[in-house]
Amino acid sequence: MRNVICARCVKCGREYEAVPNLTDCACGGILDIVYDYDYIRSVLSKEKLAARRKLSMWRYRELLPVEERSPDPELRVGWSPLYEAPRLAERLGLNRLWIKDDGLNPTASLKDRASAMVVVKAREAGAEVIACSSTGNAASSLAGNAAAAGLKTYIFVPARAPKGKVAQLMSFGATVISVRGSYEDTFELSKAAIERWGWYNRNAAINPYLSEGKKTVGLEILEQLNWQVPDYVAISVGDGCTIAGLWKGLKDLYAIGFIDRLPKLISAQAAGCCPINRAVETGEPWRPMEENTLADSIAVGVPRNADKAIAAIRESGGLTVELTDAEIMDAQKLLGESCGVFGEPAGVTGTAGIKKLREQGRLPADSTVVSVVTGNGLKDVANAIAARGEPLSCPSDMERLLEAFAARGICP
Ligand SMILES: *Cc1c(COP(=O)(O)O)cnc(C)c1O
Ligand SMILES: [Zn+2]
Repeated sequence: MRNVICARCVKCGREYEAVPNLTDCACGGILDIVYDYDYIRSVLSKEKLAARRKLSMWRYRELLPVEERSPDPELRVGWSPLYEAPRLAERLGLNRLWIKDDGLNPTASLKDRASAMVVVKAREAGAEVIACSSTGNAASSLAGNAAAAGLKTYIFVPARAPKGKVAQLMSFGATVISVRGSYEDTFELSKAAIERWGWYNRNAAINPYLSEGKKTVGLEILEQLNWQVPDYVAISVGDGCTIAGLWKGLKDLYAIGFIDRLPKLISAQAAGCCPINRAVETGEPWRPMEENTLADSIAVGVPRNADKAIAAIRESGGLTVELTDAEIMDAQKLLGESCGVFGEPAGVTGTAGIKKLREQGRLPADSTVVSVVTGNGLKDVANAIAARGEPLSCPSDMERLLEAFAARGICP
């Protein structure tokens, strides 16, 4: 890889050769891939990018840690739409707002960016089996992307994982282990199994290539905005790998001179599970919390990427915000009604955060803001219906329809 220098530990600074099956540092710290930005600048320009017809995350290969000879994987991951949302901006009292709908990836979440990357690296490593533990989306995403590449998967999910995600897993032919315990328990069992059988490891915070895949969401946002830097990018946070990846992508663009300033991050967590935000707010080391929220994808009591995430939020001069389940479900309605975008609870938590920060007066009205919707609402229909209610029920009879309209105060 001509563009990569090494992998460096974010904790102790020790450097490693960037081999395909990298894990964490001997000291337990997470590794970060280090690039040769001078080289990248010499081979990549905005004009070159603009001329590319490849509409996926692989349009940024110069900025990705993959061998030149490695083919792009099968599924079309990335280049999700960035919609301007004027009606929602008006309702939130914001200058300009965009929605990046990453629920439109092949397995319907942003996790596909990491899984696609991991599939390439597993193939480079000559692996035939990949394993991970996940709150659900990393699982279904890995299973789908691996299936498309002909690789086998062993996947550990907590028993609470919503049915939509489990259905995906089964459909993709993964060997699924539903762990009766918390996400923390699930992670520990997967770790032991991976050590025992030597599978390729897709666990967040162990495999440093995950955030390199996820960073493409940041690259795309800026290219889709024609390199006009927004003031804020809001995203939901669980393990912290996603927000750290987003930040890496933005910093890459700054390092190669494509943008001349950086947005601030908005880190949105559930009030019932917010160890990363709490650490940023108090300045103290993060401490485990209960996993007490219906936003299952961000119900992470022991975050695996806390160090990188906390550093990213601080470095960006960003904001933290915590949302109750009611506020999260409210944002789901708001996005659906005003934008036609259906996000799962964790998917809309960033948008909920923007709304709350506006109400608290912490986000200026003249800001330009991008909200990343990280997962699709179809992943978890039970919570969506519980929040919004059942539809009006009526036989095929016009008189009864008129009665039902009148009863609900609907005047067509
Ligand atoms: C995984 C996930 C997140 C959070 O990503 P982390 O890397 O765990 O912080 C947010 N939203 C959705 C839909 C996810 O699946
Ligand atoms: Zn180290």
